[in-house]
Amino acid sequence: MNVPVDKSSPSRPRRLADVGRWDMETDVAIIGFGGSGAAAAIEASDQGAAVTIFDLASASGGSTALSSAEIYMGGNGGTRVQRACGLEDSTEDMYQYLMAANGPLADPDKVRAYCEGSLDHFNWLVGLGVPYKDTLYNQRAIMALTDDCLLYTGSEKAWPYNRVAKPCPRGHNLQVEGDNGGPLFMKIMTENVEKRGVKVVFEARALTLIVDDERRVHGVVVRIDQQERCVRARRGVILCAGGFAMNQEMLRKYSPLLLAASEPIGNPGDTGSGIQMGMAVGAAAINMHEGFVSLPYYPPSSLTWGILVNAQGQRFVNEDCYHGRVGYYCLQQPDRRVYLIANVEDFGDYEKTSYLGAKFVATAEESVAELESELQLPEGTLQNTIEVFNRNAAEGVDPLFHKTAEWLKPLELPLAALDCTPGHGAFYPFFTLGGLDTLPSGEVLTAERTVIQGLYAAGRTACGVPRTASGYASGISVGDATFSGRMAGRAAAMAGAHD
Ligand SMILES: Cc1cc2nc3c(=O)[nH]c(=O)nc-3n(C[C@H](O)[C@H](O)[C@H](O)COP(=O)(O)OP(=O)(O)OC[C@H]3O[C@@H](n4cnc5c(N)ncnc54)[C@H](O)[C@@H]3O)c2cc1C
Repeated sequence: MNVPVDKSSPSRPRRLADVGRWDMETDVAIIGFGGSGAAAAIEASDQGAAVTIFDLASASGGSTALSSAEIYMGGNGGTRVQRACGLEDSTEDMYQYLMAANGPLADPDKVRAYCEGSLDHFNWLVGLGVPYKDTLYNQRAIMALTDDCLLYTGSEKAWPYNRVAKPCPRGHNLQVEGDNGGPLFMKIMTENVEKRGVKVVFEARALTLIVDDERRVHGVVVRIDQQERCVRARRGVILCAGGFAMNQEMLRKYSPLLLAASEPIGNPGDTGSGIQMGMAVGAAAINMHEGFVSLPYYPPSSLTWGILVNAQGQRFVNEDCYHGRVGYYCLQQPDRRVYLIANVEDFGDYEKTSYLGAKFVATAEESVAELESELQLPEGTLQNTIEVFNRNAAEGVDPLFHKTAEWLKPLELPLAALDCTPGHGAFYPFFTLGGLDTLPSGEVLTAERTVIQGLYAAGRTACGVPRTASGYASGISVGDATFSGRMAGRAAAMAGAHD
């Protein structure tokens, strides 16, 4: 069937009645061959369904292959790695932490399912051949650059979460040297997809869904070789097409705050087409204003001894929490001016090891007043902040923001300041955390929370477990993408075939 290319857009579904004939048929059609799509394909295939994956790229991977593929897992007494490192992790601690971290935005059913299924998910990944070494990387780091596995990747040890649940490291890093987790992870996932005989069509862009008058999804229109093909999905379509960090128009409309961050991270296909396709058939998109954003101010971890101040010369966060939480608060500051101030010696090998890219804008040899004036902060503000901070730090306390004693020591001359103001050169990566509303099974919901028959979503196309940068932990996105992909793959495979 040859329909001119401009007739189809994600926002304009194709009516079933207008489909002359099916060009391809499958049980489950999966849009996107990144982490969520691969997991969905493996699970659907293992449940006995005929599966076809379509990806607009010429190879598998998506943003998952670009990532470190740290995965947030634990609970249930602990994963093999946690236990080998002498750590016991309870499902309840993991649940309470993730609920607190996501605050009022959390979906308790999804968080519960994720925590209860986390050990099984670890074992499933290991069964596929994902290698994890039974070692702890006991440093404050964004990712392990060694082949060690387990590290703290969230704010578990920091206030306020250290009051809510017993901290435990849950970030699982693949057994590979350097930041190469993502490519290895997707290589293993791809081999598992291929092993199962799943049909994969690359350079195939899904354009829009095919629906009947009752809004039941029957298939998807895909552009292959410049031709629009109607693909029948007898049991369901699973949208695994990533988020919308690369779509300026959607960002302006739904999450304008993220535009203050410097760099959308992800693959070029993160244009929100999966979310748009779902919305066009009546799906609700939720949490669209939220994203992951980060100020990666460590390494070197010694900068955690420093303080972050705003245009009023005041602190606004405990600097020992996760870099995403810090990034979130930086974007909220008045005038968005942010400086990181630390003892000169604590900058250590900043120039060599940092991802931050922030420039030195002031130094002080003689007095804090000097620094205050160089940064053009109102007189007395920074002096007061540092005087209060130092007085308390000497006692090992931080009554204002509860930074833990481990990271408290007085700031002493000489001091230096980095300009972390968004737009002044500091690296603020971001991606989106809003998406289609789904049940934990991956079934897509309308605004009334009724299920749209035949439609599933997973990964960043859905709104999953991670909901906000302020409570983000590295590993929760690939964790959620692969976990939700599995749930959707299973549910779609087990659904009855359409007529
Ligand atoms: C540099 C970097 C580091 C990161 N590190 C981590 C980490 O360590 N841990 C963690 O949890 N998270 C991390 N993240 C985030 C995480 O990688 C992603 O959020 C997650 O992998 C998304 O998975 P996904 O399956 O939803 O999407 P993807 O893996 O991006 O897959 C989506 C696929 O859909 C395809 N597609 C899109 N639109 C269409 C269409 N219309 N038709 C056909 N195909 C389409 C794309 O080509 C792509 O292959 C990182 C991200 C980046 C960029």
